[in-house]
Amino acid sequence: MEPQASSPAAEKPPAVKEAVKELHILWTPDGMSCDGDTISVTAATLPSIEDVVLGAIPGLPKVHLHNRVLDAQQGGDQIMQYWHQAAEGTLGAPFILVVEGSIPNEEIKSQGYWTAMGVDKRTGQPIRLNDWIDRLAPKAWAVVAAGTCATYGGVHAMQGNPTGSMGLADYLGWDFRSQAGLPIVNVPGCPVQPDNFMETLLYLLYQAAGLAPMIPLDELLRPTWLFGKTVHEGCDRAGYYEQGDFAREYGSPKCIVKIGCWGPVINCNVTKRGWMDGIGGCPNVGGICIACTMPGFPDKFMPFMDEPPGAKMSSAVVLTYGATIRRLREITNRTASREPRWRQRTTVLNTGYHPTTYHEPAPATVEKTMIEAPITGAAS
Ligand code: SF4
Ligand code: SF4
Repeated sequence: MEPQASSPAAEKPPAVKEAVKELHILWTPDGMSCDGDTISVTAATLPSIEDVVLGAIPGLPKVHLHNRVLDAQQGGDQIMQYWHQAAEGTLGAPFILVVEGSIPNEEIKSQGYWTAMGVDKRTGQPIRLNDWIDRLAPKAWAVVAAGTCATYGGVHAMQGNPTGSMGLADYLGWDFRSQAGLPIVNVPGCPVQPDNFMETLLYLLYQAAGLAPMIPLDELLRPTWLFGKTVHEGCDRAGYYEQGDFAREYGSPKCIVKIGCWGPVINCNVTKRGWMDGIGGCPNVGGICIACTMPGFPDKFMPFMDEPPGAKMSSAVVLTYGATIRRLREITNRTASREPRWRQRTTVLNTGYHPTTYHEPAPATVEKTMIEAPITGAAS
């Protein structure tokens, strides 16, 4: 979990003056979403959400999690009390606001609402998610966008949508700063990779405790250590790509760029990290990368199962030398797969043993022709 690069945010001194001892996480899946990020995070193991909430990790503040899906004990008014207290400033401890789902544009219509949670006791009317964000974001210790809908708009923000949906940074402004001086922290993915989210949350909790420096984020507000490399750079199938060996149908173990994989140009670590407990990670297990972590998702990557336009040219270049390299490697592989010829039961020594430290004639019985030349390697 070592930060790999600095960012404008990382260069600032930590904004935390005092270590936070206790902290609430107000996590709403009530943006324009499918609750998929909440569900995904239940599979996290590094760390698990249970370990964080039950205080099993040394050094963290005491955490109170409020998420209507994950909190089996509370629902309805019980869970909404924390949101009201946070808005009123009576929660008694700092809080991290986690938003899941894209933010609709409530300004483009004269009646109704796109998404809401809880009820205004005075009016009996639902409270729109946008109003909760307006109330809570400026008061939050940190604001986290979980999943691609919340980070950049995602599926709900596709061309032709009726809701005018957008990501949290589009809504609050890309220069938004929380109470602790943090930008919005974006953890994209559709859904978010479980450990990517929990590791980010863990980092923020350590930062709140005064045990970590400012979280390093890139220009798209993603943790740099999670999104600094491409899918392709970690893919199990990259060796096939390099040799110009491409699958033409699903089910093949070869590189699937010709049937729609966008991995070479997409920032995502699931091919290295896996999905659950190190297992999975889209192309590793046969699924094309559809670029679900990217701000241009989904519009810029459709239709999903067509070969990406850029891949036509790059794979054509790879094909010209990849096939030759592959054949040369097969020759080298055959040579490398044979034992040296002197490893056999004979009555004479055929290893080429020829001492140079004392004067004894070389055994006349050594058959020099039996000694195989070292592998020079047609290609390696
Ligand atoms: S399957 Fe995708 S990510 Fe993997 S090597 Fe091929 S193009 Fe790259
Ligand atoms: S590999 Fe591609 S489709 Fe899979 S999670 Fe990463 S960005 Fe999304």
